[in-house]
Amino acid sequence: MREAPPTAGLPLSPLELFGARGGFARAAQDYVGAPYAGLANSGTACFVLILIALHRLSGRRTVVVPAYTCPLVALAVAHCGLRLRLCDLAADSLDFDMTMLSGLCDEDTLAIVPTHLAGRVAHVAPVLLLARECGAFVIEDAAQSFGARQDGQSVGLEGDAGFFSFAAGKGLSLYEGGLWITHDPALAPAIERAHDELVSRDGWQEFRRCLELAAYALLYRPAFLPWVYGVPLRRALKKGDLPSAAGDVFSPKIPLHRVSGWRQGVGRRALSRLRAFQEQTTAQAERRLAMLGHLPGVWVFRDKESEKGVWPCLMLRLPDQHRRDRALDMLWGAGLGVTCMFIHALPDYDYLRPCVPQDVCPNARDLAARSMTISNSLWLDDAGFARIASVLEQVA
Ligand SMILES: *Cc1c(COP(=O)(O)O)cnc(C)c1O
Repeated sequence: MREAPPTAGLPLSPLELFGARGGFARAAQDYVGAPYAGLANSGTACFVLILIALHRLSGRRTVVVPAYTCPLVALAVAHCGLRLRLCDLAADSLDFDMTMLSGLCDEDTLAIVPTHLAGRVAHVAPVLLLARECGAFVIEDAAQSFGARQDGQSVGLEGDAGFFSFAAGKGLSLYEGGLWITHDPALAPAIERAHDELVSRDGWQEFRRCLELAAYALLYRPAFLPWVYGVPLRRALKKGDLPSAAGDVFSPKIPLHRVSGWRQGVGRRALSRLRAFQEQTTAQAERRLAMLGHLPGVWVFRDKESEKGVWPCLMLRLPDQHRRDRALDMLWGAGLGVTCMFIHALPDYDYLRPCVPQDVCPNARDLAARSMTISNSLWLDDAGFARIASVLEQVA
């Protein structure tokens, strides 16, 4: 049996494990055209470093994040000892409900975190305007959107700072890694200082990551994905453990350590193929968006004229939860790379209870209940995609 991964990760060639070391941070910075940037061991680690640097600058403590986002974002805020507030999304949107956001902003707001989900480009400009009025910073969570652009400029550079993730499943992968970026010459040294003080040379952790990256290079291919991705997925589904099936369960411990020259070398060689790979995945996504566009009741999140997002997956919304659940019953676990972005809004994960407030977020809950994702991996062939489309046609 074949198995498509849930997102379009750039497969590594085993040959890329060998060669000169280092150079990834600089190459990734150039790829997005960021004036200042730095590498850390995960996107979450980058977010932590940015938060600590900003907190030291302003003394404020409240961080406002979307109520529908990666649980690691909430865990990072808790890790820093800061206060989390959730802002709902606008109805049927991936962007903030701006009325609610403006009500949340006050003299303790440290940062607001617009999020470029699923490779799409979030509306940062109105958030920036609000943030400036209340003296808050804007941190763009671009973990899923390395390479996405708006009017020719990379995401992550409109706000005060931004970060990308190079975790497995996020496009380009170092197995774990992250890049923070900023255009602000005053902020960059503050983030670098936080990095130098807090990020250790944890040789053991890094050694593990090197082994994991080597294993990833060998096993991230259709012949092995049924074992490394499909088996644990179907086990979680069988148990009814949907948060695990969606990959939403994380340890509250957030490691901070340096990325070795060896892993950086692997990433730099892979990065040289990323532009061509993203052109291929964009072309595939455009073809498939057009096909889904013909299905009544299926809404796919896509780009506006000025936006050029990236396409790890196609994120779509069905008319109601009942139909979404029927589609998932038939497709999740079928080896076709269909899954959920996040299974819940943040207040609805039991394991996050200690660090997430029960803020009101009907639209985030609605999105969690009605949305799903289709892999945009090049390994999901047209026949597999046609099977997905026919299920969607049937249920929607
Ligand atoms: C994955 C992800 C993160 C965290 O990135 P890691 O590299 O896994 O730590 C943050 N925000 C969003 C939206 C993500 O999808």
